Amino acid sequence: MLNKSILNELQDLVGKDRCLTAPEDLMVYSHDVFCQSKPDVVILPTTTEEVSRILKIANREKIPVTPRGSATGLSGMCVPAQGGIVMAMSKMNKILEVNPEDRLAIAEPGVITNDLQVAVEAVGSFYPPDPASQTICQLGGNVATNAGGPRCVKYGVTRDYLLGLEAVLPSGEVVKAGGRPIKNVTGYDVTRLLCGSEGTLAVITKIIVKLIAKPEARRTLLVAFRSIDDASTTVSRIMAAGIVPRALELMDQRYIRNCENMYHLGLPTDAAAMLIIEVDGFAETVDRQANIAREFCENEGAFDIRLAQTEAEADRMWYARKIGSVALYRLSKTMVTEDATVPISQIPAMVRRLNEIEKKYNMVIYLLAHAGDGNMHPLMTYDPGNKDEAERVDNIIREIFEASIALGGTLTGEHGIGLAKKPFMHLEISPAELDLWKNIKKSFDPKGIMNPGKFV
Ligand SMILES: Cc1cc2nc3c(=O)[nH]c(=O)nc-3n(C[C@H](O)[C@H](O)[C@H](O)COP(=O)(O)OP(=O)(O)OC[C@H]3O[C@@H](n4cnc5c(N)ncnc54)[C@H](O)[C@@H]3O)c2cc1C
Repeated sequence: MLNKSILNELQDLVGKDRCLTAPEDLMVYSHDVFCQSKPDVVILPTTTEEVSRILKIANREKIPVTPRGSATGLSGMCVPAQGGIVMAMSKMNKILEVNPEDRLAIAEPGVITNDLQVAVEAVGSFYPPDPASQTICQLGGNVATNAGGPRCVKYGVTRDYLLGLEAVLPSGEVVKAGGRPIKNVTGYDVTRLLCGSEGTLAVITKIIVKLIAKPEARRTLLVAFRSIDDASTTVSRIMAAGIVPRALELMDQRYIRNCENMYHLGLPTDAAAMLIIEVDGFAETVDRQANIAREFCENEGAFDIRLAQTEAEADRMWYARKIGSVALYRLSKTMVTEDATVPISQIPAMVRRLNEIEKKYNMVIYLLAHAGDGNMHPLMTYDPGNKDEAERVDNIIREIFEASIALGGTLTGEHGIGLAKKPFMHLEISPAELDLWKNIKKSFDPKGIMNPGKFV
């Protein structure tokens, strides 16, 4: 609970309409998809100067500060585990510059990812990172989680497009990392250190991203297989052959059927698994790339291969992938999605392991995967009020992480650690590595006010 005089100081700074304490406001800003914990106050800054002044007060009074984007995170990252201030960045939402000549764009952190993409595509440029939540999530959230998406198999993740950042340290000091040049090796790479830091080091207030030329054409294939093993083997064969599709997504039969039941997209419900393969580039090359991908699919026994004839048809295929998981929510009280990620060659082994785990605990595991980069999304629907079911889900999650690490993978390919994966960090991170992280945290945030209770 904040004392009255500090609250007054914060309200004087930004005004009562941007310093919220009503119970319903605190409730709205208390959760993400994973969990909930109430803040004492929600502040919506509009300038870097305001962010700096708020942090100075918080640091002086040792009040926790948790930055918040659109709260689409799936691991409790933006949830204020120890109360204090939630700093919601949604009002810092201006695109400041789109510059095709310098191949960069500059934006405030509260810009919605898709809005930036539309703005840069209007001038023939392209900003590839495409988390499936791109129409809701914010660029600041993407940077703080190093978000990826289907297209990262070819184009890389948010980190690969960051040229520079402006950030405010917990002391209130405004710092610059990186800058406008594409090449820049002056000193430590603080830009990339802040990327993926989950709001534990500083508040990001300005983002400079690299742009590339918009690909001229794309081809999208939807391919049905009789076994999930054939589909996952096709993925590793395509990647090993050196073809780099812009997306390579896998969905299993139960996911396909549930999605079809809800959205009636004409999906191949008799398939054991389905791949969406998308290639892009110059108009002269895309048909050739699509044909090569088709040959790989045929060689592994694909029985239904559909090439989208129009952009609208391609978008319809993508709808199944991007929105299909929402259809799972109606099956039970809640749904959990994991994002353990394995090396591409280990996808077939990971799929087999998931089957074994599913049988062992007698629970249905739906499978989605950004298969082209080994990022698996096993999904489970369950009732958290059912003790037995909840315990089985906990055990399954633990075994999924253990399997991923045993296969040379990682706990999280894109959803971050937050609170969800904190109990499993020891599987991947040694005590010495954790000490190094703690020392980094201390040098940014000696009083430990930034997003406390999380992974450091
Ligand atoms: C339907 C759905 C699909 C998704 N698909 C993908 C996907 O394909 N790929 C993927 O990577 N993720 C995906 N996600 C997860 C999520 O969308 C991403 O992690 C996204 O980057 C979070 O952005 P946000 O604005 O919602 O951030 P939030 O969830 O609000 O916050 C995430 C973290 O960023 C920090 N943060 C936010 N803004 C700032 C700032 N300005 N300065 C410092 N720290 C800040 C917060 O403190 C928190 O730790 C999906 C989520 C949903 C619900």
